[in-house]
Amino acid sequence: MTADRVAEGALTLDSRLNGALGGRTAQALQRAFGYTTVGDLLAHYPRRYAARGELTALAELPLDENVTIVAEVLEVRERTMRSRRGSILEAKISDGTGILTLTFFNQKWRANELKPGVRGMFAGKVSDYRGARQLAHPDYQLFDDAVPTTGADAAAVRWATAPIPIYPATGTLSSWQLQTAIGVLLDGLGAVDDPIPEPVRRGRGIRSHRDALEGVHRPERDEDWKAARRTLRFTEAFVLQTALLERRAAARAHEAVRREPRPGGLLERFEASLPFTLTDDQLEVGGEILADLAAAVPMNRLVQGEVGSGKTVVALRAMLAVAESGGQSALLAPTEVLAAQHLRSIAKMLGPELSAELMPTLVTGQLPAAERRKAALRVAAGQSRIVVGTHALLGDTTSFADLGLVVVDEQHRFGVEQREALRLKGRHPHVLVLTATPIPRTVAMTVFGDLDVSTIRQLPAGRAGIETHLVPLAERPAWRARVWERLAEELAQGRQGFVVCPAIEPKVAEDDGEPMEGEPAPGAGPAASVASVLAELRALPSLAGARIAPLHGRMSADEKDDTMRAFAAKELDVLVATTVIEVGVDVPNASTMVVVDADRFGVSQLHQLRGRVGRGSVPGLCLLVSHAEAGSVARERLEAVAATLDGFELARVDLELRQEGDVLGAMQSGGRSSLKLLRVARDGDLIADAREAAAELLAEDPRLAGHAALAAAVRRRLDDEASEYLSRG
Ligand code: ADP
Ligand code: MG
Repeated sequence: MTADRVAEGALTLDSRLNGALGGRTAQALQRAFGYTTVGDLLAHYPRRYAARGELTALAELPLDENVTIVAEVLEVRERTMRSRRGSILEAKISDGTGILTLTFFNQKWRANELKPGVRGMFAGKVSDYRGARQLAHPDYQLFDDAVPTTGADAAAVRWATAPIPIYPATGTLSSWQLQTAIGVLLDGLGAVDDPIPEPVRRGRGIRSHRDALEGVHRPERDEDWKAARRTLRFTEAFVLQTALLERRAAARAHEAVRREPRPGGLLERFEASLPFTLTDDQLEVGGEILADLAAAVPMNRLVQGEVGSGKTVVALRAMLAVAESGGQSALLAPTEVLAAQHLRSIAKMLGPELSAELMPTLVTGQLPAAERRKAALRVAAGQSRIVVGTHALLGDTTSFADLGLVVVDEQHRFGVEQREALRLKGRHPHVLVLTATPIPRTVAMTVFGDLDVSTIRQLPAGRAGIETHLVPLAERPAWRARVWERLAEELAQGRQGFVVCPAIEPKVAEDDGEPMEGEPAPGAGPAASVASVLAELRALPSLAGARIAPLHGRMSADEKDDTMRAFAAKELDVLVATTVIEVGVDVPNASTMVVVDADRFGVSQLHQLRGRVGRGSVPGLCLLVSHAEAGSVARERLEAVAATLDGFELARVDLELRQEGDVLGAMQSGGRSSLKLLRVARDGDLIADAREAAAELLAEDPRLAGHAALAAAVRRRLDDEASEYLSRG
């Protein structure tokens, strides 16, 4: 890769890479990371820093991944190949204990460079060749042993001690190629205006942005990159919070239609017919929502509440308040099963009279064409005042007469864009987002920083509760039989149960019930599947006579719906399912939830799953079956789930145990707009501090008129999000 020099001071963060670097380099960077500007590449921070004297532990290298390591050449051998013409050069490199073999075909000349005792960085994909680890055709850069002799001693010391940045690299762009390119940019970079105003930096030990970029990419000492990362982390939080608070303000700048219930109107009639009294939390959150709806500012509220805490009723009350003035509400659900269930339970709660008036209507992609047309007409004409659907609601074929309220169920499955797409179908409708995943405050601030948050902590009274047990097959393999006995005992009492498996068929992972929040599915070996467990249960004498059926994402929507309906009607005793049953499915007679290979699921996913039982007056039993070894992180996660029913406590534990970066989920990870240095698990205080500072600044200067650099940073951030959305389609 050639790195052309650019005139000193000629570059800004918005300069195109194509022009600042060679065209081929710029192209490679765009292809590998989507980077197009100087600012993009300068925000490509090192993953870690190596020291010249320290070698990478070779034994811990992951197979089949691109790695960058620091090692020393031990020996080099050349041999001719018998089968083909040509030669192989094999170099062994070491970290002092382990050995890794580098192989090169027909590149004898490398023996001149790879001399025993030489150290350097090596990059490539780790493979396994007959039990030995190797890098085939690696890239490398050897450390220059020539200590600089010109200049003072200090220069030599600096050379020997300067941390070496190791960048996230790809097969085509090595860490040191990135380092070189970034060096060129830093040399050419002119003055950088600070996104963070002086008064905000003061007292927080925040450096100038320019210093921070130098320190993170070209540190002389460890303290340099540490201080730089602190600054960049705060900057990231501050810019993000400013963007979120601006978005919030922008949404609130529009005029919404006030939606107020009338005395003796729909809402009152509905409340009078409810078979239960609302919990205090339901009333409180409901009050907040009604106040929002009655204002001329569009509501933008997130309601979080445990599974079974009664969020649907809360949302329904809001819909009735809107319906009062002829307004329509759209409820967006993540799956066909859930949309259909929502429609059924809404119709049931409304009762025949209100249903006839409000015409709750289902709009999904799998409706037969004629039915779908009919539904679309009712919605477009405004006859249907409650519309429930999947992504189909977002399409061009659905339009509303007067969309007053958008309700999004289980927000983590939808992006901001989908919320926006639906919002655009009305004139600044109110928006209500429901989630059953308790979100720690800092995550809420980061992911949903443009929303107001309400929380339902209480569960309705009269719930019999759930008991959770871990079944540790690692130590107690025989307990597996006992699990099925317990299930049989529950069935004998007239109750029903779920058995959840991570896969549909042996070796086929469930793909429509994506792990929530991008949670990892750890654990090696094939996962228990619906097919194999179904066969196992059907063969058990203790379950002879039990009506057992599968439920998974490969079944058609009709099949799934029929199965769920049959289960709800007690025509089935046991569902062997994947996580399609995870969200929202409501069968009060179900008492038992067995999760097989439970370590393959995330903490919050398990918590959601167990929320499927113990919903009525029947006590719930949740058995987490796992081979995870005692002491492993996987086991700790399961123990945490077994130890508490408090979703908020679990969310906290989860955050601590979970791999950093997974927290924000697939939606937020990997892409360009994802968090770079910020970690919600660790940086909660910093995020809160940044939000407060951003709010103060916006209160004084809502348009950022006097803060051009910050405005530019916010714009860059939003551009990234927008282009990421477009590239995802
Ligand atoms: P969520 O969506 O929060 O998981 P739902 O709204 O589906 O919970 O409510 C779960 C069940 O509890 C439903 O059957 C609902 O009718 C019932 N329910 C809701 N609120 C109450 C309440 N205050 N008292 C008793 N039952 C309630
Ligand atoms: Mg629900």
